[in-house]
Amino acid sequence: MARYTGALCRLCRREGEKLFLKGNRCYTEKCGVERRKYAPGQHGQSRGKLSDYGIQLREKQKVRRIYGIMEDQFRIYFKKAAGMKGITGEVLLQLLERRLDNAVCRMGFASNRRQARQLVKHGHFQVNGKQVDIPSYLLKPGDVVEVKESSRESQIISDNLSIAEHKGFPEWIEVDLQNMKAKFVRIPLRDEIQLPVQEQLIVEFYSK
Ligand code: SF4
Repeated sequence: MARYTGALCRLCRREGEKLFLKGNRCYTEKCGVERRKYAPGQHGQSRGKLSDYGIQLREKQKVRRIYGIMEDQFRIYFKKAAGMKGITGEVLLQLLERRLDNAVCRMGFASNRRQARQLVKHGHFQVNGKQVDIPSYLLKPGDVVEVKESSRESQIISDNLSIAEHKGFPEWIEVDLQNMKAKFVRIPLRDEIQLPVQEQLIVEFYSK
């Protein structure tokens, strides 16, 4: 599937806020948004006020970018969320949180979702004892993700885990650092998904 491979900081600058796409670097003074507080491109410094549609569009783009999802796939997630029980915007975020690449990042095995996707694709993880190399694989409550035996020496994964241990883990995930495994205990509540997002705007965007 096609994927955005350009500069990540450019995406944050386009949205005018930090989307934390690069992991640890995002917390340093090297952050692109900190250094250049205007949108990229020729007209980046002279963009005017957004219409209602523009605001909704930007919110949708923001969430797509945070999770690294392409347009068509994102629309499929939205349709799926709309057909499920619950508040559509919240269900959408919960579906995105269940993706294996996102969970690998939340579990501390990767420093950001792009890296998580790459690690998953390279076959470093098992889910419930079976290798899964599909980043969009949706986890269910109780699923256990673990670093494959032959990948446990990976310096990148160990370094990421040490940093993550200091930062702490989300409440819906139980991490067994010693055995490099983590349980997706339950689907997170909306309040627990700490993202700078107004998902209702995305619902309004697709409801037109
Ligand atoms: Fe975004 Fe992180 Fe780049 Fe800052 S460093 S602009 S938060 S990706």
